Amino acid sequence: MTKVQFKAESKRLLEMMINSIYSQKEVFLRELISNASDAIDKIYYKALTDDSLNFDKDSYYIKVDADKENRTLRIIDTGIGMTKEELENNLGTIAKSGSLAFKNENELKDGHDIIGQFGVGFYAAFMAADVVTVISKALGSEEAYKWESEGADGYTIEPSEKAEVGTEVILKIKENTEDENYDEFLDEYRLKAIIKKYSDFIRYPIKMDVTETRLKEDNDQEFEQYTEEQTINSMVPIWRKNKKELTTEDYEQFYAEKHYGFDKPLKHIHISVDGSIRYNAILYIPEKMPFDYYTKEYEKGLELYSSGVLIMNKCADLLPDYFSFVKGMVDSEDLSLNISREMLQHDRQLRLIAKNIGKKIQSELKSLLKNEREKYEKFYESFGRQLKYGVYSDFGSNKELLQDLLMFYSSKEKKLVTLDEYVSRMAEDQKYIYYASGQSIERIDKLPQTELVAEKGYEILYFTDDVDEFAIKMLMTYKEKEFKSVSSGDLGIEPEEKENKSEAEQNEDKELFDYMKDILKDKVKDVKASKRLRSHPVCLSTEGEVTIEMEKILNAMPD
Ligand code: ADP
Ligand code: MG
Repeated sequence: MTKVQFKAESKRLLEMMINSIYSQKEVFLRELISNASDAIDKIYYKALTDDSLNFDKDSYYIKVDADKENRTLRIIDTGIGMTKEELENNLGTIAKSGSLAFKNENELKDGHDIIGQFGVGFYAAFMAADVVTVISKALGSEEAYKWESEGADGYTIEPSEKAEVGTEVILKIKENTEDENYDEFLDEYRLKAIIKKYSDFIRYPIKMDVTETRLKEDNDQEFEQYTEEQTINSMVPIWRKNKKELTTEDYEQFYAEKHYGFDKPLKHIHISVDGSIRYNAILYIPEKMPFDYYTKEYEKGLELYSSGVLIMNKCADLLPDYFSFVKGMVDSEDLSLNISREMLQHDRQLRLIAKNIGKKIQSELKSLLKNEREKYEKFYESFGRQLKYGVYSDFGSNKELLQDLLMFYSSKEKKLVTLDEYVSRMAEDQKYIYYASGQSIERIDKLPQTELVAEKGYEILYFTDDVDEFAIKMLMTYKEKEFKSVSSGDLGIEPEEKENKSEAEQNEDKELFDYMKDILKDKVKDVKASKRLRSHPVCLSTEGEVTIEMEKILNAMPD
């Protein structure tokens, strides 16, 4: 039997692809710039093994040039260029990636940054352009060729003129339609913003002619406009720099530049991992709570880069909810991207990175607590609740990670203390970690239930947050010590017997108690003589797991 080849309707395929792969049109520029960067990288890699080639980094660049009148946008590079055959093969065949082939042929292993792999990015140009023209001169060739296409209808190739080795991609930008704006792709500010957003860390300069305004030289009243060529991208990503060469100011500047927040970060964490998965990350713990932090509008997540190119603005999977306040970015070469490069194929690598990052944040917070207590308390004021929610909402696995980061107000210290500090101070005969719940420190201070525990000289933790007691119930124990509410029936304390009442007196009590029970009816289960009270005549106490405070919160929750 002869095998019949599938026929692809390339026209339809191209149309489908152009219109359905990408969620945003603007990424066409990211794709073309990535190709230009790959083309320069190829010369760089060739020069490593070819002595006749000399790679002088300064003479390689990418230029983006908009011409509003002619509605053209040009992306010019000084890269390796394409021969006639390469134009045909790489641009004439959908899903053919010359860059992937280059990577394989040259067996590039560590440190390779070549971005291309799917052989489709180039066609993103048709999202913004009616006509795409590519003029290219390959390294080592004397001839230049022009490839031109209006999209689905196919392409032409003919000899052309070009002085320098490299490639020029010329887009004839579409006219605006009723619901689509294309003019923006000719606008200087917009282009600059798109370059900054996606291609800021491309290793070669991305240049643009930028119009600026200045005061006229011999006249400080009038302004004049002038044009100068500027490099738009930062090139060397801060996360690839040596930590030792970076100052706190550098990190703070990056924080501000990236608009992670308007505050100054309380702490930065710079991670470089070169193990089974390679990644770099710069994370920040903000100083102030974002205004929308405890609202639905707040979106957690880190920026995700693949070899320096932005893939996702807020990758939520990188952060657990209890660390949702962390800002920053992750860059990895080891991600399997999907074809649009906007999503990931498998999240195994991502899960590994997320786990790794989680541990790192925890240990950094712990060291902040240990070494810079004041800063930690500031942090805790803003985000402590989130940690407590973390303990509460995840069954078991967060406990270990978070319990040492918790703090509560202490009756003895009159300030926030950790559970570890509490336990290390416990009296020899003390069985439990005691806590008291209430709306505020002042109110808990006045609680009659605290009296006996306090009299014994035991420390009491004050729970003033709704979530506190629920979180503690999840923890159950800390360093094998159980938590005990001061209002629970059995406090585990033997009060010294003050006096023994006569039978007559006890009967009198019983009469009074029965009378009280009668009046209070279903509101209480029982009325008893208490041994824990000192200066107060009466208090409420509970039996079982749910305390009065918890009951109040549960009752207030919507069904
Ligand atoms: P990918 O970049 O994923 O390989 P593209 O569709 O973006 O796919 O590009 C297809 C191929 O065309 C590239 O692999 C590369 O071989 C070639 N190419 C595209 N742009 C350029 C350029 N500016 N210079 C040299 N080669 C290029
Ligand atoms: Mg590409």
